[in-house]
Amino acid sequence: MKKIIVIPGDGIGKEVTASAVEVLKKIDAKFNLGLEFEERDAGGTAYDKFGEPLPAETLDACKAADAVLFGAVGGKQWDNLPVDKRPEKALFGLRKGLGLYGNLRPVKVYDALIDGSPLKPELVSGSDLLIVRELVGGIYFGPRREAEIVDGVERAYDTEIYSVPEIERIVKLGFDSARKRRKKLTSVDKANVLASSRLWRRVVNDMAKNYPDVEVNHLYVDNAAMQLAVNPKQFDVIVTGNMFGDILSDEASVIGGSIGLMPSASIGELTSFYEPIHGSAPDIAGKNIANPMGTILSAAMLLRYSLNAENAAQAIEAAVDKTLADGYRTADIYQDGFKKIGTKEATEIICARL
Ligand code: NAD
Repeated sequence: MKKIIVIPGDGIGKEVTASAVEVLKKIDAKFNLGLEFEERDAGGTAYDKFGEPLPAETLDACKAADAVLFGAVGGKQWDNLPVDKRPEKALFGLRKGLGLYGNLRPVKVYDALIDGSPLKPELVSGSDLLIVRELVGGIYFGPRREAEIVDGVERAYDTEIYSVPEIERIVKLGFDSARKRRKKLTSVDKANVLASSRLWRRVVNDMAKNYPDVEVNHLYVDNAAMQLAVNPKQFDVIVTGNMFGDILSDEASVIGGSIGLMPSASIGELTSFYEPIHGSAPDIAGKNIANPMGTILSAAMLLRYSLNAENAAQAIEAAVDKTLADGYRTADIYQDGFKKIGTKEATEIICARL
């Protein structure tokens, strides 16, 4: 059996995870994967029940599971709680507790939705890339100092530090991901200025010798940011550090045009974690209008990266493609002339196409 912990969380998290579980059950029946689901609380819902946004029992269950499927947390009613009780604290606790070191963000432009992209259709059509971002190191976690006074002048600093094992771990994830795709890896750094980037680049080149089937190139981060906007089709897998990845993955997420459609995975030392990139969307919660596709596609990533069930993952992705190609649209991506559907209908239609 493969145990999947499902954490619906708050707001639309409950609706979209219910959809993804339905799709996973259907795919399990078809591919015989032996999936077993257990639900746990986190976020505001967990605070209301247990007084904690991340009960120890939830974290322990995640550590012992084969994978975690997460919805979203947060909502106005919890905004005034002390920082350590707020719903978002659950996410930090899970990231730390599960040792989630690598974030995977696929960006795919669906031809059926190309008008939703802020970029010209001919530029983005066919774009299909994956950003692999280091999540627990670099400048966000290096030594820092605030309010330091030197010669009567206030200053502050942060430090970018990467060790060889830290770089190797994330770059390996980049190479392995490229092997599962079109076998092209772009490493993004700032090696013309930063010592940490020069080490990064050396490690990438050393590791490339073990992956002769993967084509490797290097881009400086400023050029990478520009290339994502002018020619996103050139990319397959991008691997980069924490801060560059933070910025580039948000830039890349607008290429596709809708956050309701975008999945993500965070790869852990213990268990990996799958969630849509959107939040709990309190403005539309409980109305059966949330787009469940980002979570359903996150479930496909779960099958690919945690269970090595590539065929089952592709079947889910193809069913989502087909649903869009057949003209079905949830409210967030609706345009005149298409068939408007709610969360539940979208789930049924995707299941019917599996
Ligand atoms: P949000 O992503 O929840 O919503 C932004 C906008 O996009 C809203 O108009 C919403 O209705 C729409 N939207 C989001 N997902 C959608 C979907 N699946 N289908 C259709 N429309 C969708 O971001 P926000 O409004 O800034 O934050 C709301 C709450 O979510 C806050 O409490 C925030 O802290 C939390 N949040 C949680 C996470 C997470 O759990 N990973 C991430 C971001 C925000």
